[in-house]
Amino acid sequence: MKAYLISIGDELLIGQTINTNVAFIGSALAEINVEVIKSSVVGDNLETILNEFREAFTKADVIITTGGLGPTHDDITRSSVVKFFNTELVMDEKILEDVQQFFTMRGRELSDLNKQQAFIPKNSVPIRNFKGTSPGFWIEEKNKIFVVLPGVPIEMKEMMSNFVIPELKNKNFSEFKTQRLILQTTGIPESILYERLGNLDEIMQGAKLAFLPNQYGVKLRITVQAESEAECLNRIIEIEQKIRSKVGRFIYARGEELLEETVGKILTERNLRISVAESCTGGLIASRLTDISGSSNYFERGVVSYSNAAKVEILKVDEDTLQKFGAVSPEVAMQMAEGIKAISGADIGISTTGIMGPTGATFNKPVGLVYIGLCDDKVCYAKKFLFGNDRLINKQRTSQAALEMLRRNLLRIPDED
Ligand code: ATP
Repeated sequence: MKAYLISIGDELLIGQTINTNVAFIGSALAEINVEVIKSSVVGDNLETILNEFREAFTKADVIITTGGLGPTHDDITRSSVVKFFNTELVMDEKILEDVQQFFTMRGRELSDLNKQQAFIPKNSVPIRNFKGTSPGFWIEEKNKIFVVLPGVPIEMKEMMSNFVIPELKNKNFSEFKTQRLILQTTGIPESILYERLGNLDEIMQGAKLAFLPNQYGVKLRITVQAESEAECLNRIIEIEQKIRSKVGRFIYARGEELLEETVGKILTERNLRISVAESCTGGLIASRLTDISGSSNYFERGVVSYSNAAKVEILKVDEDTLQKFGAVSPEVAMQMAEGIKAISGADIGISTTGIMGPTGATFNKPVGLVYIGLCDDKVCYAKKFLFGNDRLINKQRTSQAALEMLRRNLLRIPDED
């Protein structure tokens, strides 16, 4: 089954609204094995909308539109649908009741303008809107399914999840089942990951592997199709094992898990507490760790020791060391980690110090140079990283590298070479 998505609204074209609907619909359809072949954005213009409907109708089995269903003059999706199917609008009593109830619950009078929202194309089945007033509608003609939904994301999502997806699932009699698995990797660039995996045909045997990089790492998405769910699962496990045998040390989680959740689970299991002393990350590591519910079990404290004075006063970094090696040095990173561990009484201390840019570089210390320190009861060390020249991305990458250093320390994954 092939789908074509049409997002309608001038605000999407001028960048006033980010098209989040298409991301949600695309991933919801992928889950039920409906292939999206195209997604387009059109303004509030009747001719353009009709042209797009025509194209979609020739190319796909399912067409889903969002936006332009409201009661105002610029909402023209309903009239475009009427024109396209050469039909007319009829009042739907059930929808009128819904709209009436929506207004009564908010203590507001139902205006004539809002009453018009109960009119739907004669050839359609209404899709009730439990979060707003514009109903959607479902049309089946010439072996095609045409679904019209409001643009407001919360309304669209509810209608997709509770009506459209279950209906499409019933109709999509594909011979094949599909299963996907995400493996989260970090600390290895996409190209090296690719090289290390080696012969992908041998690993995948016809299944698909997507590399999805961002500033935190590379997600590997495995997609398998087979005749039964059980066969899909077996194949996924087989592929996962082969991938792990090549790059397992870089995989921190299965599925949509964040690294801060992974380390949080390990710290909880081991009953360990951590403190952080952050310079160049400005509190980002503390923020990420405390984004996770239950972090009070393992997060002791965080200090943003941005100035040299703070490093000396709070963390007891040695002034001579600062003078001799500079604030961005492995020596200072280690003393910061040692200092925060000592003053907080935590089991592990982590520190960051670096040059985030775009200013601050010296001859020996370029923008992107970072040292991350880690001290526990057995070891105290610092690692050097060289990131890029974008300040905010450098902060994010540093925080990720620090959490990954922590994970590897906890799991005793040694450095290569
Ligand atoms: P309603 O009648 O419930 O207001 P509607 O179909 O008329 O729905 P629009 O007027 O097109 O919806 O848009 C309503 C809101 O939804 C606007 O804030 C718009 O920016 C937002 N919106 C529309 N399309 C999208 C989209 N593709 N992604 C994210 N937001 C969207």
